[in-house]
Amino acid sequence: LASKEIKKESSVVRINDEVSIGGERVIMMAGPCSVENERQIVETAEAVKKAGASILRGGAFKPRTSPYSFQGLEEEGLKLLAKAREVTGLPFVTEVINPETAELVAEYSDILQIGARNAQNFALLKKVGQLGRPVLLKRGMSMTIQEFLMSAEYVMSEGNQSVILCERGIRTFETATRNTLDLSAVPVLKEKTHLPVVVDPSHGTGNHHYVAPMCYAAVACGADGLIVEVHPDPEHASSDGPQSLKPAKFQAMMDKLRLFAEAA
Ligand code: PEP
Ligand code: MN
Repeated sequence: LASKEIKKESSVVRINDEVSIGGERVIMMAGPCSVENERQIVETAEAVKKAGASILRGGAFKPRTSPYSFQGLEEEGLKLLAKAREVTGLPFVTEVINPETAELVAEYSDILQIGARNAQNFALLKKVGQLGRPVLLKRGMSMTIQEFLMSAEYVMSEGNQSVILCERGIRTFETATRNTLDLSAVPVLKEKTHLPVVVDPSHGTGNHHYVAPMCYAAVACGADGLIVEVHPDPEHASSDGPQSLKPAKFQAMMDKLRLFAEAA
């Protein structure tokens, strides 16, 4: 179902009346790794909107590598994201980590994110395939492109065609970056599938210094959108502070990104 052999023209995934992914415009999704409190999420939402983002991101259910790390505010986090949407008008994407809480997350959110660690959780993929919400599907950290596309098939074969693919870096021998952002996945996926493709340079590099250059490169190689972590106080973030941009840096990046988007 994801293949270009089935459908030649590019798919446009509609988020709401104003925002779609896969059309002419490169879409920016931005916000903190985790929702921490009302002030943090509302202020970040206002800042990313001002800079030109059209979708807010924020984790409420967090799939942490360690069980002792912050696990997210759960439903309270979803309520705070809904509050930030009310204030700014931005739709939001948030992660769903298991089939049991998928309906709850879908009641609040505009886009359901499947994280890298759950990219082959087939029960979860089938579940979000049955919910009427667009799905942002991240590539698993050791997944081939073929396996990635098969995960999209799990969602689509349940009836949900609104799938957005996200390259977020893969595991390699390199340790200078958190993951190796496989930007060649963008043209490869564009050749194989009609689904929109977005890039996450925050998790792809793990270092805020490298986020802007990889955003420019992602646009140059044909990405339909970007997802970037932004935090008002990265030093004190509950998760992923080292890879989070401060609002001012995000604004400067967005101004430069427009030039690349126009050229691409
Ligand atoms: C996230 O978006 O915060 C996240 C946990 O991403 P990934 O699943 O790509 O690691
Ligand atoms: Mn994160």
